[in-house]
Amino acid sequence: MQAQNGSLVSAWRARVERDPDARALVYFDGALTARQLDEESDALAAAFESLGTRRGDRVGVRLQNLPQSVLAFLALWKIGATPVVLNPMYRRDELLKLVDDSGAVGVVCAHDDVAAVAAAVEGTGVRWVMGTSPTDYQTRNDPRVFPDGEAVSSSSASAGDLRELIERFRGSRPREIELTSEDIALLTYTSGTTGPPKGAMSTHGNVLAVTSSYATWVDLQAGDAVFAMAPLFHITGAVINATIALLHDVTLVLANRFHPEVALDAFVEHGVTFTIGSITAFNAIYQLPHANRHHFATMKALYSGGAPIAPAALERFEDRFGLYIHNVYGMTETSSAVIAVPLGARAPIHKPSGTLSIGVPLPGLTVGVVDTDGRALAPGEQGELELSGPQVVPGYWNKPDATAATMPGGRLRTGDGAIRDADGWIFLVDRIKDQINTSGYKVWPREIEDVLYEHPAVHESAVVGVPDDYRGETVVAYVSLKAGTSTTADEIIEFTRERLAAYKCPRAVHIVNDLPKTETGKLRRSALREETAEIGDGPR
Ligand code: AMP
Repeated sequence: MQAQNGSLVSAWRARVERDPDARALVYFDGALTARQLDEESDALAAAFESLGTRRGDRVGVRLQNLPQSVLAFLALWKIGATPVVLNPMYRRDELLKLVDDSGAVGVVCAHDDVAAVAAAVEGTGVRWVMGTSPTDYQTRNDPRVFPDGEAVSSSSASAGDLRELIERFRGSRPREIELTSEDIALLTYTSGTTGPPKGAMSTHGNVLAVTSSYATWVDLQAGDAVFAMAPLFHITGAVINATIALLHDVTLVLANRFHPEVALDAFVEHGVTFTIGSITAFNAIYQLPHANRHHFATMKALYSGGAPIAPAALERFEDRFGLYIHNVYGMTETSSAVIAVPLGARAPIHKPSGTLSIGVPLPGLTVGVVDTDGRALAPGEQGELELSGPQVVPGYWNKPDATAATMPGGRLRTGDGAIRDADGWIFLVDRIKDQINTSGYKVWPREIEDVLYEHPAVHESAVVGVPDDYRGETVVAYVSLKAGTSTTADEIIEFTRERLAAYKCPRAVHIVNDLPKTETGKLRRSALREETAEIGDGPR
């Protein structure tokens, strides 16, 4: 496959022209046709322009799976600006770092989040904060995902309310601009073993490459309905839940934050035919006693990515619901899905490790398994997975050194230890990077350790991931204390909760006299992991 020409805006406009009256988006009992979504996003684009937002500007979008995320994406793309997707769970400093690094000029967030966002971004380049209500674009107010008080319609947002702005600018269109495939469509942050968080620059061409190759792979057809199970503030949700649906003649089904019962209801109510999410989300559905085959009656394909899948989880799911969950692999730096099990095929298992294959490369992707010097290895040999192709981002925002280190010559070093068998199936058998994978969310130990070091009683800290049946892995911390101080595990956990998104906070903290180190003084994380396996992850 060649690099994709054109932009997401031209692909979107072509979709609107093909079938303007088709349902493009549903949200509980609310629906928008392609034409309505186009008009609303035109108005919002004009509103963004009136706030001084221009081509090349970055704007934070900090929302759950709401129609307003999609409206903001489309509106920003129409004026050539870049959405910076932000997890609403991020606490003050986590948010500040991303806003600062991206140089965002504005942030769109929920009304009840406006005060916290405004306080966090003080002193940065953010000129405006726009509020919106998760209860807009529907009337049902399902209490399972709309807690009391979320129906706020006004707030102290400096730019005002998103829907009111759309009404004010209704009928306006943004200035016409010629976007290219190199314009940046999404800035998605990822962390690393060293250095500050890095914004992966997914271009319009990257996103088009993924959406078109994956739509073919999963045989997306006009009339399909895609349920956004993954969060739209993660690359998977943004690209292969939302954008893929927008650019094809299918309906995007949104349901605010993920709730397994609400998801099942949405499958039935909207005739969902395709979804992709973390295996933890599928396990949450599996655990519902009332879930049955009827809920999946219209489903044509299920895909799960972002984290390893235990073969037993697939088997029991298929036994009960009659549907096989296909594995799919992607990274922030590959603009989401690049390796996947073909529709209708079953992933083989690598016998020595018991690992389920992540699939085979999608069209256009070049896959290598390389040794530490970057030399290609033969089938069956274990090395680092290396990827290149039109899906791989050109680099990190303003970080040429990190770009050169992670993707030398455009070849992305994934940090995943892999084997490719003689038939081309790829297996992830090891993790080279120091990363914890909890329900598909990535946690970098160093970031948590840095926060633990801020605690006045902590002398040294080490964070490891330990196996967990439900989440895949959970975060566990070990700390030693400064002489003459005392504290408790609970107090330290609370300390992290004030500073980190919930999924990054240690589930257990072990206070020890000394942390195990090598002779050269480096932490021996493997020793801690083994120790945790023996004693369990302790108190919660
Ligand atoms: P992120 O950048 O958050 O999307 O994380 C990317 C990482 O998630 C990859 O480098 C892998 O370590 C992991 N990952 C993604 N998909 C899978 C999968 N299907 N199975 C196992 N690990 C996966």
